[in-house]
Amino acid sequence: MKNSSHSTVIPIAEVGHQRPAVAVPDVAVPATGLLLDRLGRPLTDLRISVTDRCNFRCSYCMPKDVFDKDYKYLPHSALLSFEEMTRLARLFAAHGVRKIRLTGGEPLLRKNIEGLIGQLAEIRTPGGDPLELTLTTNGSLLARKAAALKAAGLQRVTVSLDSLDDAVFRHMNDVDFPVADVLAGIDAARAAGLGPIKVNMVVKRGTNEQEILPMARYFRTHHGGSVVLRFIEYMDVGATNGWRMDEVMPSADVIARIAGEFPLVPLEATTPGETAQRWAYADGGGEIGVISSVTQAFCHDCSRARLSTEGKLYLCLFASAGHDLRPLLRGTASDDDIASAIGHIWQGRADRYSELRALRSPGDPHQDNNGNANDKAPRRVEMSYIGG
Ligand code: SAM
Ligand code: SF4
Ligand code: SF4
Repeated sequence: MKNSSHSTVIPIAEVGHQRPAVAVPDVAVPATGLLLDRLGRPLTDLRISVTDRCNFRCSYCMPKDVFDKDYKYLPHSALLSFEEMTRLARLFAAHGVRKIRLTGGEPLLRKNIEGLIGQLAEIRTPGGDPLELTLTTNGSLLARKAAALKAAGLQRVTVSLDSLDDAVFRHMNDVDFPVADVLAGIDAARAAGLGPIKVNMVVKRGTNEQEILPMARYFRTHHGGSVVLRFIEYMDVGATNGWRMDEVMPSADVIARIAGEFPLVPLEATTPGETAQRWAYADGGGEIGVISSVTQAFCHDCSRARLSTEGKLYLCLFASAGHDLRPLLRGTASDDDIASAIGHIWQGRADRYSELRALRSPGDPHQDNNGNANDKAPRRVEMSYIGG
């Protein structure tokens, strides 16, 4: 890390319509090393969105009528380079980040993503360990790319797949993409050693709930039960997917449905801040997970920061404003200056949107991320931009 001999005060640029209502930390004091936010949560996990583009149009994420041919994606000049992402990742590692997940949009659409993975794989934690490097993908390009991703240093992948029924899947991705190609991607990832593989299924009541059991049956038996299937509650992210509570299938119902056919036993979390609650098949047929962001919020141990493709740092999936790090990267700020700016941003964090959503009664006005009731709360960023 470069040394700055004095403590420069770096203005933390804010974007969006209004500043988050958090106390402004004393930025004259450098914020280095391990960090805790205002609710005592450490920073251990960084998600980097590498593109805001996608070749799918999942209706819960990038509905076709909004993300059409006229939609304005980020111009190339706005995107962080791989060197800029790696520089930031190194500074985050110094603050305690142990795990980096690449996401998007569809991350495998970013040209030479292997080059970025290779650079990130060189980073070491203060204790000298490599970072845990993972990637979330829709699987469409995975069969072609799995071996190269592994060779570049990627450790694991999570593949999103909402149905095994071809007609349902083609309808949900809304670009007529077949299930078979995603399954081939999962096979290739396993053959390349990108495991243990997780498969994410967003469950939308009335759309793919009938696919819960076929998905559970398939992944119990294929690959010797080594693929962990995770059921995600449909979330009210962004402002375009027309989310309705009655389309959310609570995880408790998913578990009850599976347990009716295959008895389940709960498992302990392996790491603090784990988003999924884990369950094992009682007969030893592997495990599943549920991510219950709507019905059982887990903000109290949310240790994740999110970096957008253009270098804005978001502290919550439901944020409407990010902290723009790109001017620091492209200006004269030293590594210490940028590390300190990141530290102050994290120390000022009080976000807990999902917990506050749970406290809100139906019909209450929208709240901003700090719980301020506000029916004019700024528009939340889209999942395809911030990366899930
Ligand atoms: N394109 C990649 C993919 O689909 O895996 C990575 C980006 S995608 C935004 C990351 C994850 O967010 C996917 O597993 C996707 O299913 C999930 N997701 C997107 N919109 C969602 C929503 N409204 N509710 C719950 N999960 C959602
Ligand atoms: Fe694309 Fe992933 Fe969003 Fe589907 S969930 S539209 S694959 S970014
Ligand atoms: Fe973390 Fe925000 Fe999700 Fe809560 S709502 S778990 S703070 S990302």
